[in-house]
This record gives sequence, structure tokens and C-alpha cells, in this order.
Amino acid sequence: MKKQMVAAVFEGNGVLQLRKKPVPAVSREKDVLLRIEVASVCGTDVHILSVPPGHPANAATILGHEYVGEVIDAGNGVTHLKKGDRVVVNPNLACGFCAYCRKALPNMCENMTTLGIFIDGGFAEYNLAPCDALFAISKETPLEEAIFAEPLSCVLNGIRKLKPLPGESALVLGAGPIGLYFVSILRMAGLKEILVSEPNSKRARMARKMGATEVISRGDTQLEEIVRARTGVGADIVIDAVGALMKEAVASARKGGRVLLFGMNSRAMAEIRQNDITRNEIEIIGSFIANATFPATVSLLESGRLNLKSLVTHRFKLREIHKGVDAMRRGEAIKVLVDPNE
Ligand SMILES: [Zn+2]
Ligand SMILES: [Zn+2]
Repeated sequence: MKKQMVAAVFEGNGVLQLRKKPVPAVSREKDVLLRIEVASVCGTDVHILSVPPGHPANAATILGHEYVGEVIDAGNGVTHLKKGDRVVVNPNLACGFCAYCRKALPNMCENMTTLGIFIDGGFAEYNLAPCDALFAISKETPLEEAIFAEPLSCVLNGIRKLKPLPGESALVLGAGPIGLYFVSILRMAGLKEILVSEPNSKRARMARKMGATEVISRGDTQLEEIVRARTGVGADIVIDAVGALMKEAVASARKGGRVLLFGMNSRAMAEIRQNDITRNEIEIIGSFIANATFPATVSLLESGRLNLKSLVTHRFKLREIHKGVDAMRRGEAIKVLVDPNE
């Protein structure tokens, strides 16, 4: 096997540099060495590479937390995987012993670290990951579908809390990648009205393709009126996939409706009349990353029923990764694939 590999390393201050790095080797009994089959650029990578950064990351780390790999080597303690398996990766590694891990909330782990953000990830030819992070997926599942595992597992965590009922109505605020995954899952769940609010016409088109019954692009004050006109009393479910639209979300929900706050923006402040939530019994639900949702995610991807590969808008070789980051930064890409194989 090769001794050196190409990797995209975060150097701090918005710099992502292609470098030669040694191919990592299995040293601990739960280690798994992966050959990366495909990776993808996430919005979080763009935040990491902004100046000032919108998301923390460790300098000198190989970025890339969304990737699919083939098992090349494994330590003696790895029992659920074998050489040649294709795996998807839960990059968020929980400690297993803190107060939250022991309350079955590993997504709230107080000692969490993340592959591709704080320790080396998948923008490389090879990656070393702990076996707990890895889930085998059928090789019949195309890479262009398997690559969606990580964000989809986070979306399923939100869906589990929302408990959408067939026939209900939903409003999804924002048709970026996350909003689009929600739309396709809600369609599959049998919702009647799936309204989407999205000003960008390209994304609006994509939302219709994924199952939105109507895309609303008008101003916020009209939004509530349109939602009320379509649903009678307001949406049963409202999902803020942007992370700064709590006010609009609460105003568009019916009395007793559920609002899922999913998008992340640590600077957004919502001005809300608290009494509207009290008086209307609005249920406000937060959801962060995945929690035990990888098994269902893998099954769903293997079923081939979601057809997410139509959301792949860009493909680049690893050496062209900057073009991929730029496409994400400009907001013109939905899913950018990065292929480390020359
Ligand atoms: Zn991500
Ligand atoms: Zn923990």
C-alpha cells in the first residue's frame, strides 16, 4: 500500500491546503482504516473556512465529515465490519461516560469530538476512524446516495421528534440541502400540503422536484397569510431549516402546532411575543445532529426510495476541492461530491 496520500488540511484563518500526509495505520484495537470512496463539502466546511470562522475547527486537521469508505484494515477488537465492507460515517464521536451519554443523549456529549472538524476526516485518500462511528451499507447503494447518510441521520432525528402524520400540512422554511431532505421525507410520510418558503428560484425548482406542493417566495408578512389560506388554520408542522426564522415559524403554525428549530445560526436572535406560544399552545422543538438514527438512515438509503442523487449538483476531484467550497459558498450548489481517486 501507498505510504503517502493527498489530503485537504485546514491551516486556520480560512486556509484549506492540499498536502502530502502519511497514510494512517491501525494502532488501536477499535481502529478501522478506510479508503475514501467519496466525500462531500458541507455548509459547515464553508463556515469553518470563513474569516472570522462561523464554526470552530482544529488547525492542522484534515477536513471532511461527510464521506463513504471501504474497510481496508481493522484492529482486533472490530467485530461488526470486515475488509471490503462499504461504510458510512457518524463523524460525531461521543465519550460514552459523561452525564448526557449516560442519559442516552450522545448528541449532547460533553466530551464530543468530530471526524473532519477536530480530528482527521475524509478529504483525503484514506482515513482512520473508530469502529463505533461506522455503519456498513450495501454496495448496491450508489455512492451518490450513500453520501447523504450524515445529514439525513440528523434530519431523521428531527423527524422522530416531530412525528408527522399522513395527511398533515407542513411548512419548510428554506430549501437549502437540509430543507430539501425534509421535503422528501415529508412527502414519503404522506403529508398533504408541503409548503416551502424559498426566495432563490433554482432552489425553489429543486423543492418542487423533491415534493413541495407549493413554493412561496414572497415577503414574510404575506407568508403567514398564504399558509393560512392553504391550510385553513396554519401549518400542523413548521420546520426552520435556516436557523433564524423562529418568528415566522411560530406565526405560521396552527394552534397546537409543532415548530422544529433545526437550522443553526449562533448569532440569530428571535423577537417573539411569548404569549403567542402560550396562548396557542405551540410546541417548540430543538434538534441537533443525529441520535441513534444511523440504522434507519442506512435502511432508507438502501431502499432507494428517496432518490437524493438528483440533489448532486457538482463533482470535483480532491485536488479541485477549492472549486467545491466556492460553489457551496456562492449558494449555487446543493450537494458537492469530492472524489479522492485520481
Ligand atoms: Zn455537515
Ligand atoms: Zn459523553
